[in-house]
Amino acid sequence: MSENVAGKVTLEKLVSLCQRRGFIFPSSDIYGGLSGCWDYGPVGAELKRNVKAAWWRSIVQERDDIVGMDTSILMNSKVWEASGHVTNFSDPLVECKNCHLRWKADDLTENKCPSCGGELTEERLFNTMFKTFIGPVEEDAAVVYLRPETAQGMFVNFQNALNTTRKRLPFGIAQQGKAFRNEITTGNFIFRSREFEIMEFEYFVKPGTDEKWFDYWVEERLNWYVKLGINKEHLKLNQHPEEKLAHYARSCTDVTYLFPHGWAELEGIANRTDFDLKQHSAASGKSMEYFDDETKEHYVPYIVEPSAGVDRAVLAFLCDAYDEEPDKDEIRVVFHFHPDLAPIKVAVLPLSRKENLAVFAKDVYTTLRPCFITQYDDTQSIGRRYRRQDELGTPYCVTIDFQSLEDNMATIRERDSMNQIRVPVSALKNTLLAKLSGEDLFVLPEGGKIWKEEKKES
Ligand code: ATP
Repeated sequence: MSENVAGKVTLEKLVSLCQRRGFIFPSSDIYGGLSGCWDYGPVGAELKRNVKAAWWRSIVQERDDIVGMDTSILMNSKVWEASGHVTNFSDPLVECKNCHLRWKADDLTENKCPSCGGELTEERLFNTMFKTFIGPVEEDAAVVYLRPETAQGMFVNFQNALNTTRKRLPFGIAQQGKAFRNEITTGNFIFRSREFEIMEFEYFVKPGTDEKWFDYWVEERLNWYVKLGINKEHLKLNQHPEEKLAHYARSCTDVTYLFPHGWAELEGIANRTDFDLKQHSAASGKSMEYFDDETKEHYVPYIVEPSAGVDRAVLAFLCDAYDEEPDKDEIRVVFHFHPDLAPIKVAVLPLSRKENLAVFAKDVYTTLRPCFITQYDDTQSIGRRYRRQDELGTPYCVTIDFQSLEDNMATIRERDSMNQIRVPVSALKNTLLAKLSGEDLFVLPEGGKIWKEEKKES
């Protein structure tokens, strides 16, 4: 099964399809782009929103113990001093004495410049936080940083969130938002960028229960990707050995995915102990203690943090959904997205542009549009339109033909099997809702019938 990822989909194919169909474009494209920055197009923006919505639903909406927040990107610089980012958030760099290109020391296998073979300087630390200034004067006192992660906004709001929601431990705060890192080397499409999005949460627990919760979250987070359609064989847990743990972490496990460039981190789950709350408590002078009114104890909670990259998740969902299938003399390219993630849920396709058919089809379109992201397409042959929707990963196409004018029925064509059913127009909305929630295509509404059953090769 790993053939899908390792064999069929290459980054070149994906980048080109994403650009052609409006998923993802280089940022500032007309000016030649900006390295490490990307723009999500009309279809990509929907896909990304759906990934974030599925995460929010499982972490915030469907749980009693986690609340959402949306904290600011710019924060008081003391936050980044207390967190250790000002001193520690850096990469060791070397520079070529000949061509002056800079390289991340960790990436080099030989002690010479990969570009020109020149001699390299000693390693120097380079802070990867973007710096800017508040106000008109560019002075040290006005320095602020673009956040390189969203976690600090949640640590410093621990008491605010707890007091206003009257929750008890274990309790979590979740958020999604932009993060910025002045990465030395970017690449592999949206895998490593300088501006990206994170979805992460801080789960505050009683010390001593932290390892249990850590194991629980590793399992939950791995399953989240599987439930949304990623092949289990393309996911692997990577436990960090003790000697490689960050100074604050007691344990850390990555969920890794078999990207076209190899196994790489999708999400990191860390047991951060009480490090963050203690640092902020010491630096701000504010208590970060929790009072347990059952045991009458005061303590600083431990934190388990599952931190996922939105863009890396989008890339993994794109790679795993991509398929090329033989179709007569051609190849059908299709994204088999989970219905919750599919950018466009339904396409309405009138068989011809003749006026009476167009009026009928537009009517169907306006009925469906409030319920689903729906596309209306009346260009080119029906076969080509199906192929286009396959490349967008649209789970269902609704075809309106001349017979529809007489029997008031429409055809629903399923993306994955290419099978078709015929249902009364009055039952379309509910039928599509049921199918998008997982009902088998051949479960028919009253008056419905099987229209076409594809005998698929292989
Ligand atoms: P890496 O080792 O790949 O640089 P990291 O361990 O520094 O990642 P974290 O600090 O744990 O990453 O960030 C949380 C998540 O944010 C990562 O699991 C990843 O999905 C995502 N992420 C981190 N850096 C980037 C980036 N430059 N571009 C896109 N996503 C990123």
